[in-house]
Amino acid sequence: MAHASYQSFGRIRSVSRRALSPDEGLRRLESSAGEGFLLPFGKGLSYGDSCHNDSGHLIDMAEADRILSFDLQTGLLEAEAGVDLQTIIMHCRPHGWFLPVTPGTRFVTLGGAIANDVHGKNHHRRGTFGAHVRSLNLVRSDCGEQRLDREGDPALFSATIGGMGLTGIILSAEIQLMRVPSLDVIQNVRPFGSIADYLTLAEEADAQNEYSVAWIDQLASGSRRGRGVLLSANHADDGESPALFVRRRQMLSVPVQPPLNVLNRPFLKLFNAAYRFSQIRKAGREVKTGWQSYFYPLDGVAHWNRLYGPRGLYQHQSVIPYSAAADALPALLAAAEEGGVGSFLTVLKRFGTAGSAGLMGFARPGYTLTLDFPNQGERTLRLLDRLDSITVDAGGAVNPYKDARMSPETFAAGFPQWPQLEVMRDPAILSDFWRRTALVCKANA
Ligand SMILES: Cc1cc2nc3c(=O)[nH]c(=O)nc-3n(C[C@H](O)[C@H](O)[C@H](O)COP(=O)(O)OP(=O)(O)OC[C@H]3O[C@@H](n4cnc5c(N)ncnc54)[C@H](O)[C@@H]3O)c2cc1C
Repeated sequence: MAHASYQSFGRIRSVSRRALSPDEGLRRLESSAGEGFLLPFGKGLSYGDSCHNDSGHLIDMAEADRILSFDLQTGLLEAEAGVDLQTIIMHCRPHGWFLPVTPGTRFVTLGGAIANDVHGKNHHRRGTFGAHVRSLNLVRSDCGEQRLDREGDPALFSATIGGMGLTGIILSAEIQLMRVPSLDVIQNVRPFGSIADYLTLAEEADAQNEYSVAWIDQLASGSRRGRGVLLSANHADDGESPALFVRRRQMLSVPVQPPLNVLNRPFLKLFNAAYRFSQIRKAGREVKTGWQSYFYPLDGVAHWNRLYGPRGLYQHQSVIPYSAAADALPALLAAAEEGGVGSFLTVLKRFGTAGSAGLMGFARPGYTLTLDFPNQGERTLRLLDRLDSITVDAGGAVNPYKDARMSPETFAAGFPQWPQLEVMRDPAILSDFWRRTALVCKANA
């Protein structure tokens, strides 16, 4: 049994955690040695406690990392759940295949991508990651191992996609990759002056582009509030630039934990001005951009989350229905400005109408706003509560796998289907997130 921090990305609660190997985890699961004592763990790239079970054991799935089969003609790939996305990319890229959906880091595992039904910059075209899962092998304490697909057991398959690891351990999965002429993209930059301007641009950008996402200058206030740049792209049709594929251990790194939050307001003001300037210079031109820097801009510096200081960071990701976006998005930005805590990365994206591929997924028709805040204790928690209430009042939801503190009521408002997942939950599996949200709702019902 390994003892390590097994932190999540937000690093809010830093304790030593126990993790079992996949073999040992399966033995314990099959012997049903207790209620809620296990949880599969990928690479801990969720931000809060949905990947923790601090009164039980984690199962370190990253050890199960083999690619099992790959059909060059059809792009169908089967792999163990601990394989990370960068391994899949390296395997399929030489043959003209790419992930149909990728989150903003290539280090997540296949199991983690399915369990959170992650989304990418092309949700409007391809939906979520789970939409491309053909089948998976799941093992549960109450009925052993089974092969699931949409036809055979649609209810358990759907609950497992976006089920946050609670329906059993995914051992392996078969996914359909996407044919691309090049992994690199041709990018277009369009500056906008306000959220209202963004809303008029976003739908058209989605119609014309495979990928689209906006960066917001969160520290711009008054009449400049909501200004930003819309970055849209399609795959290039002529090969890739010879950029080196950088493995994690070869990257730039923040080697030690600074004693303070380095990403403070003065730094952010400078950073935002420089970033905005660098992007606006490209506006109106089509610029070929390497796939690493377009899809994974943050992966270039290992452990960059340490820059938030020893108290860690909170991420707040909300999704707001289309009809409420014109009012709620400016209200969220105004609340963040009044809260006085600068967000390092503020990203806005329009989800398409496909929603999520699973029972519980976060993605749904609407606009999703992501804000990152250093943990400054009570002050930050008050701000996050305010953001929650704007989101819930607008009929939206807060992302559970980015969360470390939302109330049971906020969770239930965004995910009224939680009782269905609770019925499907493997009794031997539990997470700290589920314990403090759904199980509290259940106890109060
Ligand atoms: C820089 C950065 C950018 C990001 N960008 C995006 C983005 O654009 N879109 C997006 O949707 N997300 C994004 N994320 C979040 C990240 O993609 C998800 O949290 C992802 O699920 C993490 O995968 P992981 O392998 O680290 O799993 P973990 O975080 O370790 O676990 C995630 C969940 O999966 C479960 N799980 C893991 N393995 C298995 C298994 N084998 N069987 C069953 N359950 C399992 C765990 O129990 C847990 O509930 C980003 C995160 C970072 C740090």
